[in-house]
Amino acid sequence: MEGLPPQIGRYRIDGLLGSGSMGTVYLAHDADLDRPVAVKTLRDLVLDEQMREVFLGRFQNEARAAARLHHPNIVQIFDVGDDPKVGPYLVFEYVHGHTLKEELKKRGPLSRDKLLDLAQHVGDALATAHLAGVIHRDLKPENLLITDNGQVKLADFGIARVPNADLTKEGQFLGTPCYAAPETLRSGEYSEQSDLFSFGAVIYEAACGERAFPGAEAMAVAHQVMSKDPVPPSEANRGAAIPTTVDAAILRALRKNPSERYASTRTFVSALKEAYDGRRPPTAQRKRKSLPLVMTLTFGVLLALWVAVENCEPKVAGPDPDAGTGADTGTGVGTDAGADIDAGPDSLSPHEREEAAKDELGRARAALERGDLTEAAAALDRASTFDSSNPDVAELREQILAARPDAG
Ligand code: ADP
Repeated sequence: MEGLPPQIGRYRIDGLLGSGSMGTVYLAHDADLDRPVAVKTLRDLVLDEQMREVFLGRFQNEARAAARLHHPNIVQIFDVGDDPKVGPYLVFEYVHGHTLKEELKKRGPLSRDKLLDLAQHVGDALATAHLAGVIHRDLKPENLLITDNGQVKLADFGIARVPNADLTKEGQFLGTPCYAAPETLRSGEYSEQSDLFSFGAVIYEAACGERAFPGAEAMAVAHQVMSKDPVPPSEANRGAAIPTTVDAAILRALRKNPSERYASTRTFVSALKEAYDGRRPPTAQRKRKSLPLVMTLTFGVLLALWVAVENCEPKVAGPDPDAGTGADTGTGVGTDAGADIDAGPDSLSPHEREEAAKDELGRARAALERGDLTEAAAALDRASTFDSSNPDVAELREQILAARPDAG
């Protein structure tokens, strides 16, 4: 207990849980609700005023992003505060257990069943976050907490990078280059696809016990991430007896080009399962030729239609600015996505197509809720491309059309 603050906000500090790149995590007790909690404070970094502001903003981001997410595989945030002695802090659900990093260090690579369980839990957590528009940004084995009964919980959402910081200049790289997607290191582009890459790097390590991009020095690791393909997991650890189908499934998540990875985290999990069952996962080669092109074209057409309508509206003179925008254009939901169906998802298994369609429908619903009709329409068309027989496609199309500003 020596050196620990006795109290942070209303929470009594009972011990130290860990110390990460961002801050210190304490085991604490919430006397009001009589339950254990994890309190995370900001590491006492020597920062100038401007950088400190950035860090504080980042801390709040984490709180807001995490607070929007409720899922059994996501560590729940309970509270946020600012203590006069230790500064800003976050209060999380306390997860009794250990991290995936500790598990791998202690026991080595995971068995097939454990790996698939891990993939399922993390895939579900990420899919939930992505549907809510939240990108994790820092997925790594340290952020995966495993409870005593084997449930996996994803911690630490919402880590934002310090603007203009790079690996050498600031010397305080906040993410972990071993799991960071190349586009995040190159140009700070965080997306569902960059989370998918990190997910792939975690699964790689869990499968073979070795890092996909090994090395001790951050710059050297970052260089590997950006320019070297990882060796197949089965070669990184020959003793782990990893099937080549599984190699292929994992390596596809680690493609340098985001569009060559899987359409979603759930698609990756399905591919991993099928790879273990001995079925050949869809190859990036075939995927590259068809699906991204189809999706890009579909999205491009939708965007062009939407922009055209948006641009048209102000130009309509007279008392009724809504006149002249036909309900069958605009969102693009009326476009014939079915024309693309045969060309695109034929590289996916029927199950993968259904899963990908569900993901896109979820995205469409979330975008509709946000009022982003362009994205809703685009996601709906992608869903239709994957699985036009899904009855939710037609229903959602109606809802998007009805939500158009000029509808009715
Ligand atoms: P990092 O900044 O490296 O991502 P954190 O500061 O979030 O790591 O966490 C450091 C350590 O604290 C974790 O590796 C874990 O051991 C522990 N920890 C974090 N959150 C919790 C929690 N909610 N419950 C229990 N332990 C936790």
